[in-house]
Amino acid sequence: MSPRRRVLVIGAGAAGCAAAWSLARSAPAIAVEVWEKAAVPGGVATTQHWNGYWFNDGVQGGAPSYHNTLRLHEACGFRPRPVHMTINFGKGPTWWNNYGQALETALIRRLRPEIKRFGELLKRVNRFPWLYICIPIAKLLRWHGFSTDFVNLMVLPLTALFFGTGNQTPKVSAVIVARVFLDPHMRLFAYDPDLLLSSQPLMFAFDALEQIYTSMLQQSSIERVCYGREACSIEPLSDGVWVTDQRQRREHFDQVILATDAETCLQLLGSRASFMERHGAWTGSLLSRRDCNTYR
Ligand SMILES: Cc1cc2nc3c(=O)[nH]c(=O)nc-3n(C[C@H](O)[C@H](O)[C@H](O)COP(=O)(O)OP(=O)(O)OC[C@H]3O[C@@H](n4cnc5c(N)ncnc54)[C@H](O)[C@@H]3O)c2cc1C
Repeated sequence: MSPRRRVLVIGAGAAGCAAAWSLARSAPAIAVEVWEKAAVPGGVATTQHWNGYWFNDGVQGGAPSYHNTLRLHEACGFRPRPVHMTINFGKGPTWWNNYGQALETALIRRLRPEIKRFGELLKRVNRFPWLYICIPIAKLLRWHGFSTDFVNLMVLPLTALFFGTGNQTPKVSAVIVARVFLDPHMRLFAYDPDLLLSSQPLMFAFDALEQIYTSMLQQSSIERVCYGREACSIEPLSDGVWVTDQRQRREHFDQVILATDAETCLQLLGSRASFMERHGAWTGSLLSRRDCNTYR
């Protein structure tokens, strides 16, 4: 009988946990192992405990279009709760929200012509995605004469909220921004020509994320999960991949799935990173953070 193929998943954030869970369930001939450098799974999706209560302090929930996430949480015994989401950005003259006409702010009234023009531009981007895929949203808006206030106070904070892209937000691809407004399969908020956001869409609040990811890694037939174990280098050879951790322990795997943040992926790949992997980050961290790159 031939030995089971060994696959290592590096990183136990949302991407690594989902990859390990589904691989272990769907391919029993593969022995799946996970290395996570932190003491708990979840990555940036963390849960804090205080006085008998818990709260998710970063990642909060998702939209009905998150079919896979919702199904995965339910498969692990957690049911995301439906909520109506209200948002507020800025204060005083820079304040705006999605409460609807009742609480329309001065900023929304002042920028309304640009909100309408933004909708037209999004439709064009959605119609010709291949033309715009490599164009960062901030650059596109600048080329089309949108004001700094509209870009910095409305579009970029909202995009950062959608994707958690921090200071890389201006580089998110215009096509991805258009999709989350207009594509029924990816939509987070519906676009509104008067208010930018339709008021209070249905969303889902996640259960305690640390528990969800812990049970995801416990439930499935994953061979081994190592916390506090950091992959420091990978060395692909003709017979598979050698991976070395922070204590210089070296192990052999047939395949490795990199599910870390993009910077660590690039460090581990070094000069072996392809052009797309090296330059993928500038189309938005959505591509680099949510994708798992497999290196054989
Ligand atoms: C503040 C914030 C709020 C967000 N809110 C939402 C939200 O409400 N809804 C939503 O859907 N999305 C949200 N997002 C986006 C979403 O959380 C992320 O896209 C997703 O959690 C990223 O998961 P990941 O597995 O790709 O990366 P990460 O969570 O970064 O996981 C990578 C893992 O790899 C580990 N690692 C790194 N290097 C190594 C190494 N060398 N060896 C071993 N392990 C390593 C890390 O410790 C980490 O656990 C938010 C993001 C942020 C930052």
